[in-house]
Amino acid sequence: MLKGRRAIVTGSTTGIGQGIANALAAAGCAVMLNGFGEAAEIEAQRAEMIRRYGVEVLYNGADLAKPEDCEQLVRDTEKRLGGVDILVNNAGIQHIAPIEDFPIERWQAVIAVNLSSFFYTMRAALPCMKARNWGRLINISSAHGLIASTNKCAYIAAKHGILGLTKAVALENAKTGVTCNAICPGWVLTELVKKQIALRAQTQGISYEQAQQNLIATEPTGRFSTPEEMGALAVFLCGEHAGNITGASFCSDGGYTAQ
Ligand code: NAD
Repeated sequence: MLKGRRAIVTGSTTGIGQGIANALAAAGCAVMLNGFGEAAEIEAQRAEMIRRYGVEVLYNGADLAKPEDCEQLVRDTEKRLGGVDILVNNAGIQHIAPIEDFPIERWQAVIAVNLSSFFYTMRAALPCMKARNWGRLINISSAHGLIASTNKCAYIAAKHGILGLTKAVALENAKTGVTCNAICPGWVLTELVKKQIALRAQTQGISYEQAQQNLIATEPTGRFSTPEEMGALAVFLCGEHAGNITGASFCSDGGYTAQ
């Protein structure tokens, strides 16, 4: 379905990004992986994707907290894969504290990775997409892009910002073949969320299992979304039938934001 397309998925060494990278590769895309992790594990992930999907898979370890690395990630992909047709901005971090105790350095880090990197990579990738009159920009926001909760002010500001940025980029490019959309997951059981479950268990003096049960009970469907479901949604947004969908956001949150 996406044979011959070339995709960057930021933060694709684990979690949702890994699910999206696998789904794009399964649909025929060459993929540039990015994210942190053990070199041997990332190499094993890359080799397994090549074996399983028969597409080109490369890795670039850009630190997306740095503007120059964001630009370099796009340029390196253009050079090594011959272009970038699909850019999935997914990398994200979390910090949990009330605003008065929120370290300035953590605020800056969350905004840099979760919001500013999305601007830098799209800014760098758009000229070539527009020159070919085809492109897909997909930004991973969150249910927290639509509603707030306590003790996550930087994350929530960034995720709301992504939705505004997505709409602005969609409108600026509406007359081109480039679309720009957002995905808003609810809870997905990844490293990012496992850390939050462990923290809740510790602060509330309950077991990890109980904390996980309490957390997922906040979603009306009572279950986690999966990285595979996020991948399938991204593949749909990259397809030809999604060519007139732009500036939109798609929730996969078990009805959380419908309440
Ligand atoms: P995760 O921790 O499993 O993955 C995050 C990825 O980002 C990893 O590959 C990590 O190495 C990478 N990363 C972090 N900082 C980076 C940096 N400076 N430069 C390059 N890569 C960096 O988390 P996840 O849950 O898979 O999160 C992926 C995205 O989905 C994030 O934007 C997150 O906010 C969003 N999200 C997650 C959930 C959830 O419930 N898991 C819900 C809504 C939104």
